Amino acid sequence: MPDPADRTGLTGRTGLSVPELLDLDRRHVWHPYGPMPGRQDPLVVESASGVRLRLAGSGGELVDGMSSWWSAIHGYNHPVLNDAVRGQLDRMSHVMFGGLTHEPAVRLAKRLVDMSPQGLEHVFLADSGSVSVEVAVKMCLQYWRSLGRPAKRRMLTWRGGYHGDTWQPMSVCDPEGGMHELWQGVLPQQVFADAPPAGYEAYDDAYADHLREMIGRHAGELAGVIVEPVVQGAGGMRFHSPAYLRVLREACDEHDVLLVFDEIATGFGRTGALFGADHAGVTPDVMCLGKALTGGYLTLAATLCTSRVADGISRGEVPVLAHGPTFMGNPLAAAVACASIELLLGQDWQIEVKRIEAGLRGTLAEAAGLPGVRDVRVLGAIGVVQLDHDVDMAAATRAATREGVWVRPFRDLIYTMPPFITSDDDVARIGRAVCAAAKEG
Ligand SMILES: *Cc1c(COP(=O)(O)O)cnc(C)c1O
Repeated sequence: MPDPADRTGLTGRTGLSVPELLDLDRRHVWHPYGPMPGRQDPLVVESASGVRLRLAGSGGELVDGMSSWWSAIHGYNHPVLNDAVRGQLDRMSHVMFGGLTHEPAVRLAKRLVDMSPQGLEHVFLADSGSVSVEVAVKMCLQYWRSLGRPAKRRMLTWRGGYHGDTWQPMSVCDPEGGMHELWQGVLPQQVFADAPPAGYEAYDDAYADHLREMIGRHAGELAGVIVEPVVQGAGGMRFHSPAYLRVLREACDEHDVLLVFDEIATGFGRTGALFGADHAGVTPDVMCLGKALTGGYLTLAATLCTSRVADGISRGEVPVLAHGPTFMGNPLAAAVACASIELLLGQDWQIEVKRIEAGLRGTLAEAAGLPGVRDVRVLGAIGVVQLDHDVDMAAATRAATREGVWVRPFRDLIYTMPPFITSDDDVARIGRAVCAAAKEG
């Protein structure tokens, strides 16, 4: 008999059909950057294993070219990561972090301190990348407030960045791509330098001077500088010279400004170095990690800082870092993060990333000659085809899925950052799919 309290009609039913799922999804579920109701049907994923997403119904399988937005570096349904979650689940899935602690969080913090640039000693565990950026900005502002310099409360960044979707992160996203116009008067007003000149190899003295001049001119009101090191991700998938990171470090030291690296996309080997900072041999004062931190299993992020920052905050008028998410240090997420890091460091990950880099360079070379393609670039396990027009999402997605590959273009960009376990054949397939999407999108 149907339960009269069950207004959904779903109780006790499993195995909704694809049309039913899509209908309910369209009517009730927000998707990233989506309208309500949704205008384009998403693909329904039933399960995922290795680098393959298995679609519901007769959808078949797709090779994942996105690592679920940079996160699933070891692929899906990995036995080691599954065991880590199961083992922790049998002990406890969560306890509050105020007044309590546990081994997964402590181990993870120690791991992150040991593997990150020298000098980062203290770890704040947050539940998403955007929140870790909020915490990073709060650390900078509170540091100067504690030192009796409350006027230092703006952030400087360069254009073309992306730092997340909550308020402080949005305020340092690229002002054009970041919808600053929509939020004028609501977002904190930050200081913007020009975007770094494009290209890992390109170095421009005049641009370095521009950075120094901007930091010097605004030093009295700047709490910190925040940038994505080496690769700007969702702000435009652009690469820049690591030398600018050294310029920022020197200028920040000279002018009493803190330096924050947002490594949420670049961390854990994606760019060919363990962290973007390692390309430059620079230690920031504050560093944000997320995305690949748990190997794509659970949401978790971390904000690391130096002893100088932590001591400064803790000696202030309010001698605590006033932030404490309910799910801070979640044991399941921390346990799988430890396992994912051990898996990464226990293998020759640099060789895998180089192998994917070479594969992407080979297969994406074809795209450079296509009409409508403005630029093709590859760095580490990241491949980007930039068009001279906005991508026709539906056509590009159709072209890629026809090749058996999942990619998710945005703006004028078709890009891929495959899991590190992707075989050479599958990298070639992803390359063909990106070219097909570039042709038809
Ligand atoms: C994805 C991303 C964020 C935001 O992380 P969420 O977990 O989506 O909140 C912040 N900064 C960078 C560089 C990112 O790539």
